[in-house]
Amino acid sequence: MSTLGTVAKTVLRRRYLRQDENGTVVETPDELFHRVARDVASAEEAFGGDADAVEAAFYDALSGLDFLPNSPTLMNAGTDIEQLAACFVLPIEDSLDSIFTALKQAALVHQSGGGTGFAFSNLRPQGDVVLKTGGVASGPVSFMQIFDSATEQIKQGGRRRGANMAVLDATHPDIERFVTAKADEGTLRNFNLSVGTDEPFWEAYDSGARYDLVNPRTGAVVDQMDPADVLARIAEMAWATGDPGMLFLDTINEHNPTPALGRLEATNPCGEVPLLPYEACVLGSINLATHTADGEVDWAKLRETVHLAVRFLDDAIERSAFPVSETDEIMNANRKIGLGVMGFHDMLVDLRIPYATSDAVEFGRDLMSFVHDESWAASRDLAEERGPFPNWADSTRERPMRNATTTTIAPTGTISLIAGCSASIEPIYNVAYTKHVLGGLAVVNDRFVDMAKERGFYSEDLLEAVHGRTSIQDVEEIPDDVKPLFQTAHDVSGAHHLRVQAAFQDHVDNAVSKTVNLPQSASIGDVEDLFLTARDLGLKGVTVFRSGAKSEQVLGDDPRK
Ligand code: UDP
Repeated sequence: MSTLGTVAKTVLRRRYLRQDENGTVVETPDELFHRVARDVASAEEAFGGDADAVEAAFYDALSGLDFLPNSPTLMNAGTDIEQLAACFVLPIEDSLDSIFTALKQAALVHQSGGGTGFAFSNLRPQGDVVLKTGGVASGPVSFMQIFDSATEQIKQGGRRRGANMAVLDATHPDIERFVTAKADEGTLRNFNLSVGTDEPFWEAYDSGARYDLVNPRTGAVVDQMDPADVLARIAEMAWATGDPGMLFLDTINEHNPTPALGRLEATNPCGEVPLLPYEACVLGSINLATHTADGEVDWAKLRETVHLAVRFLDDAIERSAFPVSETDEIMNANRKIGLGVMGFHDMLVDLRIPYATSDAVEFGRDLMSFVHDESWAASRDLAEERGPFPNWADSTRERPMRNATTTTIAPTGTISLIAGCSASIEPIYNVAYTKHVLGGLAVVNDRFVDMAKERGFYSEDLLEAVHGRTSIQDVEEIPDDVKPLFQTAHDVSGAHHLRVQAAFQDHVDNAVSKTVNLPQSASIGDVEDLFLTARDLGLKGVTVFRSGAKSEQVLGDDPRK
């Protein structure tokens, strides 16, 4: 088993290790890895596999911190709440019955550690008629507030806050209200917002025309808007608060592997998995930081980990019990999994490639192409062993696969802390800082310290000098060839963040969660430009965060805190 750092141990003890009814921790990290490996590998029995051998392989990958599944799997596998997926999308139709059914389902998902996304686009607009009562409708934003309050009360079993994504189509008559819904600090703090756009919106934008606002209840065109005005408004709010982001629903649906089952209209809370109504996705991430040797990528090890991880995630679907029966059905029929990576920046340091370079972008593209191709190969192998996903014949997949999708880039907010690596495909945020959510733990970047010692510029004073800094580029003691390797999120331009996102998106079935950090000095126009660039790059969605913008972090484990 790899040695766990202090942060990892603290995170595990606080939220992941099993506790008895008095809140006493009754499990060690090693026992956690055994519990998860054993439980997930037990799925092998149904397919005539060697569950013991697979369990041993899973245990080695988990305890070696080569691969970690999403938090719900670590928390729940082998316990009474055997719910292993982090991501859900629930449908909401235009009726009180449907709205409150979704509210209850969301509560159950949150209780089990999952996050939920919803399209609110089918709800009639504010002020529209309510035929049954002769009253007026309150509209999507006011219903979102009910979901927000409910989420607030269910603290995911006391271990993390629930997270939600609300999507509203740009053609909805309440779009302006939606775009500004988080203008007041503290409102909708458990929600991320995304405006859904489609081809007609962008055609109108390109030709300088207006587009229709449509009442979803009647199908009637009730108004028209200038898409440039809407985009400017979205940019203004995103500049001020970080919300809303944008979803390019046409691009998302071009890549929908099962169009016969309907359109993809929403994603999970952080945007990395577009899902059909009731669908869920079990995520897992390979720690790239443990897949280098002598300054090179260990491709053989990476291939092996990808194959093992796909098997792990498919087994996890088999083991998972979902709180909503419709989810059981569609999960068994589509079997979507989301394998991604974390520790990308760490790997770049080992390869001596600075993050903010074209080389990093091209390397990222090649790396993800490899992971993706191998994950499809692994899913095809599983299809031979276990049969393809039942909706395969109706899908866009040409050859039999076990899973409708295999790849996703998740934020890895907590699992990267457990693995002790840089989060997801993000640049590091600091080389040394104090982690407040963990009671003031000092955290230092191991690679930075190792390099400082190796190159002879290490000192306690240096660590103190860089502590808490969001950039080390002007620290004199650090040699000029070392500085670029430790560029932080602040040193990387918004445009470069997007290029990295796009490089990974080229080889990802689902989507990429990426924060596009902007300096405080960025203008509203800069945000607008980034949205347009994101569209041009063929991304499925985009979220920006300007330094100093007021925001409520939806996720409990923001690595920056
Ligand atoms: N998520 C959630 N609550 C949280 C953090 C995450 O519901 O506090 C869900 C959400 O759907 C998010 C997904 O988990 O998109 C993956 O997030 P992340 O990779 O940060 O999770 P981790 O597995 O590292 O905890």
